[in-house]
Amino acid sequence: MQDCQAREINYLRISVTDRCNLRCTYCMPPEGVRPLGHDQVLRNEEIIALVRAAAAVGIKKIRLTGGEPLVRRGITELVQELAAIPEIDDLALTTNGVLLPAFAAQLKEAGLQRVNISLDTLQSFRYTLITRLGKLEQALAGIEAALEYGFHPVKINTVAIRGFNDDEINDLVAMTLDKPLHLRFIELMPVGVADGWAKSRHLAVAEIREIIERQFGPLSPVHKPTGHGPARYYTIAGARGTVGFISPLSDHFCHQCNRLRLTADGRLRPCLYDTREIDLKTPLRRGAGPEELAALFRRAVLLKPAGHSFAAGWQDDRRVMSQIGG
Ligand code: SAM
Ligand code: SF4
Repeated sequence: MQDCQAREINYLRISVTDRCNLRCTYCMPPEGVRPLGHDQVLRNEEIIALVRAAAAVGIKKIRLTGGEPLVRRGITELVQELAAIPEIDDLALTTNGVLLPAFAAQLKEAGLQRVNISLDTLQSFRYTLITRLGKLEQALAGIEAALEYGFHPVKINTVAIRGFNDDEINDLVAMTLDKPLHLRFIELMPVGVADGWAKSRHLAVAEIREIIERQFGPLSPVHKPTGHGPARYYTIAGARGTVGFISPLSDHFCHQCNRLRLTADGRLRPCLYDTREIDLKTPLRRGAGPEELAALFRRAVLLKPAGHSFAAGWQDDRRVMSQIGG
């Protein structure tokens, strides 16, 4: 499916729940977000019907996210059914990793190919500070479980925050030396609860790269590990893993955006930073067939804006990041 900018749209990120077992400061308010009622959240069979319709118009890649996808009941069965859709050639999941030791084996068995795990610090006190509810050793055990069960590639998402983890950049990078981990630094985005303070804590990718090269020497560009995102990847001489950079602010990549987002309550969002959404749940629940659903996907693709404007600030007072699916 091509959009108005001739971009090929083949990737759907699905927020399978708005609930989470953590409360990261840049994602949610301390008290969390009032959760959707169970009836408002798409059921497994509804997600499958939507993915089939999306596949018919060219979606080939699926990422399950949230909220925390591993707190959703029936997540393994959902993975299993998605993995069986022939047009879907890539199925991935983004998690904070806390529940991964308990789920890794069954997710692998169900057909999940790869995982991204979020980790912003290697210091216990800081991990609890940023996630409000988490313990560092749980996230680290999640990373070990992902490696042990053979997910490939295992990517680590690190949000770079000035004054919080800028002094740990090289410690985090060192994880890629002896483990096949693909660490990606992501610029903090002024989305939802982070809108008011993201600018003052912004750490540009160019600065992160300089910090790394000062310690490890020049980074060499490498082919990206499997994935469809906007990261650029490099490696340190002799390392088993790679280091990537995602710079939505300092060098935005809208011209190569290939994605749509489906919220947990069944709304299709053409762009993270655009408040326009197309309701899929209502037509689905009144019996819309594959053709009608596919037409709604086409409509969403045509609504995709050429680019976002962080400069205008976060315009969506109804949603924070965990409700859209990061
Ligand atoms: N709970 C899962 C997790 O944390 O990996 C999946 C959902 S979370 C919303 C997905 C990703 O969005 C995480 O890597 C998180 O760090 C990132 N994220 C959330 N808010 C962000 C912000 N304001 N700027 C940049 N990244 C953000
Ligand atoms: Fe939960 Fe992920 Fe948001 Fe943290 S970033 S609060 S783990 S959804």
